[in-house]
Amino acid sequence: MLVICEECAKKYNVDEHQMKGVKARFTCPKCGHPILVRREDSEPTPHHGNTVLADNPRL
Ligand SMILES: [Zn+2]
Repeated sequence: MLVICEECAKKYNVDEHQMKGVKARFTCPKCGHPILVRREDSEPTPHHGNTVLADNPRL
């Protein structure tokens, strides 16, 4: 999984399988900026808002 430091734009390849939770945080070795990593697969929470009132709006 590719992670980009938003401070110095350095790219890191993080093994998401070594992450215990959905999120992990590490410090950029280059600039010391804390980088928040979020695992992309198997997200239990929906992306767009948290409303569950509308069921499958289809056009
Ligand atoms: Zn950095």
